[in-house]
Amino acid sequence: MILILKQGTQENEINPIRQKFESMGLIIQEIKGESTRMIGLAGDTSQVTEDEVMVHPCVERIMRVSEPYKLAGRKFHPETSIFDIMGRKIGGGEFAVIAGPCSVETEEQILSVAESVKKSGADFLRGGAFKPRTSPYAFKGLGLEGLELLELARKETGLPIVTEIMSPEYLGVFADKVDIIQIGARNMQNFTLLRQVGELKKPVLLKRGLSSTIEELLMSAEYIISGGASQVILCERGIRTFETSTRNTLDLSAIPVLHKKSHLPVVIDPSHATGYSDLVESMSLAAAAAGADGLIIEVHNNPEKALCDGAQSVKPDIFDSLIKKIKKIREIIK
Ligand code: PEP
Ligand code: MN
Repeated sequence: MILILKQGTQENEINPIRQKFESMGLIIQEIKGESTRMIGLAGDTSQVTEDEVMVHPCVERIMRVSEPYKLAGRKFHPETSIFDIMGRKIGGGEFAVIAGPCSVETEEQILSVAESVKKSGADFLRGGAFKPRTSPYAFKGLGLEGLELLELARKETGLPIVTEIMSPEYLGVFADKVDIIQIGARNMQNFTLLRQVGELKKPVLLKRGLSSTIEELLMSAEYIISGGASQVILCERGIRTFETSTRNTLDLSAIPVLHKKSHLPVVIDPSHATGYSDLVESMSLAAAAAGADGLIIEVHNNPEKALCDGAQSVKPDIFDSLIKKIKKIREIIK
């Protein structure tokens, strides 16, 4: 529900509205309009009657918001969000690249990849320490040791680190050590985890579920934001279709659709979307051309020997030339 306020409304007239609806457990958000001042009420507004709102003299009129996501949506937040995460900007024309191996394997591997992607211009280092694997027998990451190696790589390169959380057991450790907490595709609808990660109030990279709609992705973002976090980055990483020639099907139209519906930045993961390293460049360029706010790309110094997702990981030299081409595309669409 959006309350449109009368011209010249003063702060002291808004306070009683704030107090009343906060006491009902609703989230109150100021909305910056072009000329009008508005207040968004998020939460279960079905209990709020028009009379209860209109009794406040500063309210001109009420607008019900039909979308089930409010805090993640554009109606409550018409301005495009630009996040500053440790000095790196993303969103609204600010493009960021997250790169690194699927999994942290050894100190030598993560330091080598971190150094090379940094040299090529990456903004963040990715690397899985806790891996969601389809087979219970596959490599599942180094766990806490992997997090320590990521911290070491951050110390050596200055790149902030992005890594996936799988269990609430590690919330405290992630709060302490990780710069952007990744929620993987398989956990996109793990609502308890979403809420608890939101409560950490840290930046979050939220990946779209394998078979999730755009609306479901935005509802998951809503869980995180209503938990307390404000910096949520949406990630399209390919969805399940009948097509088998790629690992998933990259939904590029998700970029403009999400931009239309939401103020949050959108990044594309061409690695998991395609499953093949030779398709990563073309899909990265297409994503940049379609207006993505960033990319998350798997890079490995020795993909043939990678313990996870080697087939889709590009080598550092390919990543380097890809970044140069991305810059050219960004120049063209500016
Ligand atoms: C990953 O980023 O390594 C990963 C497992 O991605 P997704 O959750 O998109 O499959
Ligand atoms: Mn991977």
